[in-house]
Amino acid sequence: MKRIAQWSNRALFGAAALAAKTWPLAARIFPETLEIDDNQSLWVAQTPDYRPNPPLQKPISCDLAIIGGGFTGVSTAYHFSRRYPQKRVVLLEAKTLANGASGRNGGMLLNWVTDPLAYSSDEMVQRIYQTTHAGIQTILDIIKRHQLNVSHRLDGTVHVITHPDRVEAARQEAAYYNRLDIPVQFLEGDALKPYIELEGVYAAMIDPNSGQLNGAQLVRELRPVLEAQGVAIYEQTPVIRIEEGREITLRTPQAEVRAKAIVLATNGYTGKLGYFRDALFPLHSHVFATEALSPEQLNNIGWQQLAGYEDDLDRIAYSTLTREGHIVFGGGSNASYAYLFRNRTAYPNTPHSAQSSFTAMRKTMSDYLPRSADIPLAHRWTGTLGITLRRNNLMGVTGEHRNVYYALGYCGHGVTLANMAGMVLTDLYSGDDERWRGLPFYMPQKPIYDPIPPEPFRWLGYQLFTRLTGKSPRTPMAEGLH
Ligand SMILES: Cc1cc2nc3c(=O)[nH]c(=O)nc-3n(C[C@H](O)[C@H](O)[C@H](O)COP(=O)(O)OP(=O)(O)OC[C@H]3O[C@@H](n4cnc5c(N)ncnc54)[C@H](O)[C@@H]3O)c2cc1C
Repeated sequence: MKRIAQWSNRALFGAAALAAKTWPLAARIFPETLEIDDNQSLWVAQTPDYRPNPPLQKPISCDLAIIGGGFTGVSTAYHFSRRYPQKRVVLLEAKTLANGASGRNGGMLLNWVTDPLAYSSDEMVQRIYQTTHAGIQTILDIIKRHQLNVSHRLDGTVHVITHPDRVEAARQEAAYYNRLDIPVQFLEGDALKPYIELEGVYAAMIDPNSGQLNGAQLVRELRPVLEAQGVAIYEQTPVIRIEEGREITLRTPQAEVRAKAIVLATNGYTGKLGYFRDALFPLHSHVFATEALSPEQLNNIGWQQLAGYEDDLDRIAYSTLTREGHIVFGGGSNASYAYLFRNRTAYPNTPHSAQSSFTAMRKTMSDYLPRSADIPLAHRWTGTLGITLRRNNLMGVTGEHRNVYYALGYCGHGVTLANMAGMVLTDLYSGDDERWRGLPFYMPQKPIYDPIPPEPFRWLGYQLFTRLTGKSPRTPMAEGLH
């Protein structure tokens, strides 16, 4: 059975590589438009006083123009303007800051814990963990330095093992991490219960250095900080076209921007600007949040400690608990994810159109926490992830004049990584990027990825792959990576 799955996997990826050769033609037959819908998440509901800045109305010029106002765009504006206070920095956001994935995610603030089979050596496994750990620390430092009102917690998250056959491998994996001074704690049987009483869990690995945060609050609370650092922020300003050159022109509905360099901080939306169309695809992921639960209710459900959990299945179920007592839940089955024909970047009419998905997700949550079945839901929303087949994000610089910077394709790990993007891109711009060199997400010379075919092969391939394997498309080398 495993052989058949491997064979069909290889065959599909072989066909995908062939189909990728039809890009120029397919892009003409199936033109695409940028769609950006309203963000209905719990996270933005917790920023009730936020009002977007007015759109760009007059032509301007600058040293750096950042397209996109999520973690990537805001962290780049933050670190760049601190390093270069004299340079003119502009940030252009199509709708409002944190309208994209940064304000719609599951809130898990994770380290990148990975195994040596995927990344060559023990040193690299150790370095990746230390790098993301430092990245989380930087986020917390920024919150503290500027006294931002961002709900967050850093009391650990847990990766749960849902089949007895995988317990021994998890034990060995945790022991391996511990030998590298990665402080993952292995628990078996009922040992997780004092933290959280999850049904159907046989073992668990707690990373004590991870947690949870409200991304919309982080991004939006940073707006006045950026403005004080001299960054000009225009919201409700979609970039419609990019014309490259030594000086780049960005067309927006009312005015244009001339910039010496730009940053693509548009993650799952990037293909609409004509970049990285074969590198990533927009995947929709549904999420819901309960109303705020009292300590007694949480005790009754069995959630005593820890900021969140995620399981070991391909269609990962992930869940966090906010400081205010909301349980946030996403993933858990094929029904909770969708790829829409022509790379649509909005999921139309959600949450009503995704009723069956939310019902399936609700059941998955109740399977894990049976006493949560009757808790009312307060928020249901859908967000767009940027997914690469290798499950590696891409950060670097491209373009004939080497002035188009990018950081995108974080898959499910962007809360930490996209907030680090600003440091990476600022160092790359400055030419002092040694600390990032060699890391799997940093490719300053040339992005490395497996090409994804255009439509109609893309949509067909996705449907075929998910139905045949029950999994999300990823290249065989990326199996085991989220
Ligand atoms: C449902 C969901 C759950 C997730 N859960 C987690 C999790 O628990 N933990 C984790 O680590 N990661 C998670 N992620 C991933 C993480 O949220 C993202 O990787 C991260 O937020 C990406 O940040 P970004 O700034 O690059 O992109 P986004 O936040 O998507 O920002 C891109 C911005 O660009 C704007 N834009 C797009 N096109 C244009 C244009 N042409 N002109 C101007 N502006 C434009 C958009 O409006 C948007 O605001 C999740 C993602 C989703 C969708």
